[in-house]
Amino acid sequence: MPTAEIGLPDPALLSGAQQRGTHCVWCSVALVNGTARDLGPRPVDAHGTSALWFPRCCPICWKGHGQ
Ligand SMILES: [Zn+2]
Repeated sequence: MPTAEIGLPDPALLSGAQQRGTHCVWCSVALVNGTARDLGPRPVDAHGTSALWFPRCCPICWKGHGQ
């Protein structure tokens, strides 16, 4: 499945660490480079200006959401 088609939580509801991709977007676990799954940059509407955020997830959540 293309990562752009995977439904993600609303970034407004996530922590800064989750928005930066250092913690899993679904379970909040701290991510280790090498095992984290990059979900691709996503647009976010931040106060009327378009920006990107960079969600990543852990391998366990990838199995549940990404495949
Ligand atoms: Zn996770």
